[in-house]
Amino acid sequence: MELPVLNPVVEIPIAARGKASLSIPEFFFGDRSDRFYVVTYGPYDDGFGWWHRNECEIGAGVFVLILAVVIWLAARVLARAQQRGRVYCRRCNYDLTGATSTTCPECGSSVVRRRPVQGRSSPRRLALPLLVFLPLLALSGWWSGRWTLNSSPKSKAWPLEWMSKAIPGWPLRRQEYVLPQKSVLQAYSLVDGKAKLIGRIAYGLGRGRPSPDGRHWAWNEFSDQNNWGNDFWSFDFMSGSKRSVSLGTREDGSGSFQGFVEGGKEGIAQLTGLVRPKYPRKPLEPAEVPITLFGIDLDTGAKRPIATTTAIASQAADGSYRLPRIVAASRLDGDPTWALLMWDKPGSGTMVLGGPSGTRQVPFASPVAGDGTQELRFEGDALQLTCGYPDPPASWQIGFDGSVNPLAATEPTSGWKGNFKKSQLLMERNGVPTVRLATKAGFSLAQKIVLSPDGKWCTGLLRATGPGANGGLVEVWDLSAAPESDPLPPR
Ligand SMILES: [Zn+2]
Repeated sequence: MELPVLNPVVEIPIAARGKASLSIPEFFFGDRSDRFYVVTYGPYDDGFGWWHRNECEIGAGVFVLILAVVIWLAARVLARAQQRGRVYCRRCNYDLTGATSTTCPECGSSVVRRRPVQGRSSPRRLALPLLVFLPLLALSGWWSGRWTLNSSPKSKAWPLEWMSKAIPGWPLRRQEYVLPQKSVLQAYSLVDGKAKLIGRIAYGLGRGRPSPDGRHWAWNEFSDQNNWGNDFWSFDFMSGSKRSVSLGTREDGSGSFQGFVEGGKEGIAQLTGLVRPKYPRKPLEPAEVPITLFGIDLDTGAKRPIATTTAIASQAADGSYRLPRIVAASRLDGDPTWALLMWDKPGSGTMVLGGPSGTRQVPFASPVAGDGTQELRFEGDALQLTCGYPDPPASWQIGFDGSVNPLAATEPTSGWKGNFKKSQLLMERNGVPTVRLATKAGFSLAQKIVLSPDGKWCTGLLRATGPGANGGLVEVWDLSAAPESDPLPPR
C-alpha cells in the first residue's frame, strides 16, 4: 500500500563540531505548541573568523610597508640636500641655479618640460610626508600589536615575534585566537502548517529558556560579552530586541537564570552572594551564603526583589566551600509565593518557602542529585521539578509539606508513534503505519522523534550518512496535514 508522504515544514542544518560528526542540539516545542526552538552549542564563528585570525599579520605587513616608505623618503631627502634660494633639477636634484641651458647638464632631462624646483630645507621637505605617514605608522603598529590578542598559532607575525625574543621583558605576548564558545538559539513560530524564523541569538554558553507564553527567551549572561558581569538577559520575539538587567557587580556574587513566574510575565534570577565564613575560620566549619531572588518584568525590565535568604556552604578538606545545588520558583499570587530547593547532601534537601504568612523551612527527600538542567515551577498547590536529560524528562511533584511524588511521563494523546524502518520514517496509529515522513536524502534519523504537546507537530534529528559525511538536520513535520482517518482497522 502506498502511504501518503508528509514533507517537513522546516529543515534546520546542524553543523559538525570539531571531531564529532554531529554536535547534538537541544530542540523542543513550546508549551503552547506554537513555537519550536533549536539550541546549538560550541565554537561560534561570527563571520569574521578569517579576519580575526589574520588581521594582525595584515596589520604587521602594513606597518612594515609604511615604515619602509618613511625610511626611503627620509633617506632620499637627506641624501639630496637643498638650500633655500637655489633651484634644483626635479629629476636628479642637480643645482641649476644660474644655469642657462634648456637641459640639465647632469641627467639631460628637459628643464622646459620639467621645471626646476625651489630649494627648501630638509625638515621642511619632510614635514608633509611625515605628517601623513607617522599617524598611519602608529595606527598600523597598534593594529599589529593587537596580535597579542588575535593570531593564528602558526603565524610568525613579525616584527613583534622577533621583538619578544630579542628584548628581555618584552610585554607583548602571543595569545592564540580561539573561536568563542556560544549557545545559539534559533526560534520558529508554528502557524498554519508553516515554520517561520522569529529569532536567532547567540550568547555565552549557558542555560536559556522560553517563557511559558512563548513571547520571550531569557538567559543569564556571564561571558566576555558583558565583561563577566551579572546580567539577566531577555529577547523579545515580537520586537526582535534584547534587554539586559544587572543583578549586581561581580563582588555581589554570581547570577543564575532560574525560570519564569506563572504565565511568563517575569523571569526569575538568583544572585548567589559570596561565602561569609566566621572568623577565626575553623577547618570544616560550614559558612553562610546570602541568596537573593529577583523577578524581572520581561516587558518593562523592572527588577523586584522576591526573597532574600541564606544557604549553608559546606567546607571541604582543602578549605574550599561547596554550595548546595539550588533551584528556585516564584509566582505572583498565593501563599507561598516563592520556593527554593537546596540539596544539602545527596538524597535529601531543604525546601525554603516564603510568602504573606512568612518564611519556613521544610526538609524533603531529594528525588534527584543536583543536576544542571532541573527546573522548578509552581503547579497549583504544589511544585513541579523537572530533570533535564532523560527523554521524556523525568519530573516530580513536591508538596509544600515536603512530600515527593514522581509524575508519570505523559504520552501524547494523539496516538501517533514513531517507527523507524528501512530508512523510512513511518508514523503509525493503532499499530498501523498511516503516513511516511519525508526525510532529506543522505540523512537518517539519529534520535526518536518528539511530538508537540498538542500532538499536531513532530520533530526529529537526522544525521548525515555515508563515508566522510558529517553534520545533520533538525526537521519538523506538520501532522495535522496528514490524513485524519485511519484507512485500516486496528489490530
Ligand atoms: Zn637632472
